[in-house]
Amino acid sequence: MSPPWLAQNPAGHAYGLRQQRQRQRQQRKRKRWRQSGAGSDTGTEQARDNDLDPGPACLTVRVTAQHDSRSLTMRLTRLLALICLYTIDLCPSASAHPTQDDHDPPQADIRSYPETDIHAHIPFTPQPPSLKPSRHHSAPPDHNIFFADYQPLSVIHPWLRLLSSLFTTHVRLINIGTSYEGRSIPALRVGVHPKNNAAASSNPRKTVLVTGGAHAREWISVSTVNYLAYSLITGYGQTRAVTELVEAFDWVFVPTLNPDGYAYSWDRDRLWRKNRQPTPHPSCIGIDLDRAYGFHWDNSSGGSESACSESYAGPAAFAATESRALAEWARNETESRNATLVGFLDLHSYSQQILYPYSYSCARAPPGLENLEELAQGLAKAIKRGRGRAYEVAQACRGNVAAAAGGDEERMPRPAAEGGGGGGGSALDYFYHDMRVRYAYQIRLRDRGTYGFLLPKEHILPSGREMFDALMYFGRYLGLEEGLVEEAGGAGG
Ligand SMILES: [Zn+2]
Repeated sequence: MSPPWLAQNPAGHAYGLRQQRQRQRQQRKRKRWRQSGAGSDTGTEQARDNDLDPGPACLTVRVTAQHDSRSLTMRLTRLLALICLYTIDLCPSASAHPTQDDHDPPQADIRSYPETDIHAHIPFTPQPPSLKPSRHHSAPPDHNIFFADYQPLSVIHPWLRLLSSLFTTHVRLINIGTSYEGRSIPALRVGVHPKNNAAASSNPRKTVLVTGGAHAREWISVSTVNYLAYSLITGYGQTRAVTELVEAFDWVFVPTLNPDGYAYSWDRDRLWRKNRQPTPHPSCIGIDLDRAYGFHWDNSSGGSESACSESYAGPAAFAATESRALAEWARNETESRNATLVGFLDLHSYSQQILYPYSYSCARAPPGLENLEELAQGLAKAIKRGRGRAYEVAQACRGNVAAAAGGDEERMPRPAAEGGGGGGGSALDYFYHDMRVRYAYQIRLRDRGTYGFLLPKEHILPSGREMFDALMYFGRYLGLEEGLVEEAGGAGG
């Protein structure tokens, strides 16, 4: 039986059929591709781009007999293309880049949507690096094929690894934890520490956490977190504003907090939201990661009868593997690794809203309400000023109520929210209250419902750009408050 929100979706009515047709098309493409000889490179061997230095930038892909050689060879082609992307001086032509048709089936669905009129702006023109953060040059995000389309886990995770290999001066690949199905939850830690140096002083390192993909179908949140990470990484040493922020803070970017759900949304159900963990109800899978945290976890939705709900909170607080992993990682950072979380941005879609605590209830004002509102308004203005797009600022509890009534992100009506006490167990509230992050926001990205979760790929760059404007404002605001950036420096990118 179709869930109720599917009927509201513009593509939902024919989704199953369309998926089948896409699979068929992909199979035909694979067949043609194999016949052309590109897929003949099978068996046990080590494939390597000999033009690259034998340094950390080289990726080694082993193709072993027990793997599906076709999918691995496709993956290998993608990886080599990615290597070319980030070492463009080594790649004479773009012919090795994957075409749009190489991407996974749900993209065909999105491509079937009418084109939108989006004006391109380039947020900054990279200058020759003055700080020489790496011997490699990189394509700026706006010229980068990685952001021309949504990417599956099989591309994103090697891409993160590659970035950490290319920019060893200020990027580390870290692991937040492991998903229910055993996938890693990777993250990039971006930062250098001339000012923010925990080793040289007893002060903890100031860390900003940026997460995406908690809800599987919100693909724009994944691509936007990647865009933000990439822009900060490649802007270091090239623009003063970025360099200042990379020196002031550790930035931790987690693009795919829910890797099992994300993979499922690519392979099986484009509109999947939760993780892929079993529930007390034998035929219902998945816990809503953003209802699973411990602060005001809502036990009224914990029964097996609600396990089929889109916003099922799990049988107990922190029952969702990935939410627990993020919380444990954050606790370990602050309690054992001399870090302090000063900012948290949790990206979702859709509805273009900047939401501040609390989510669980409007009856209780957060202690730093004025500051939270001020910064939220600043973020909205930074977006509006830079790209012209309007983002609404609201308390998360009100955003939830509006969402339930207006049919944006949370399509399933949540009765508790309408009664004034909904949206418990959110990451927003947990990080704000329990982890004492002074500036914590949930940002719901584009759009306002025209495409909803099926936002066409043409929005990837504009969404990335406007969020980068917001991120620069956010970093600068925090930097000034912490005394880590200069008054005279210019924000923006
Ligand atoms: Zn969401």
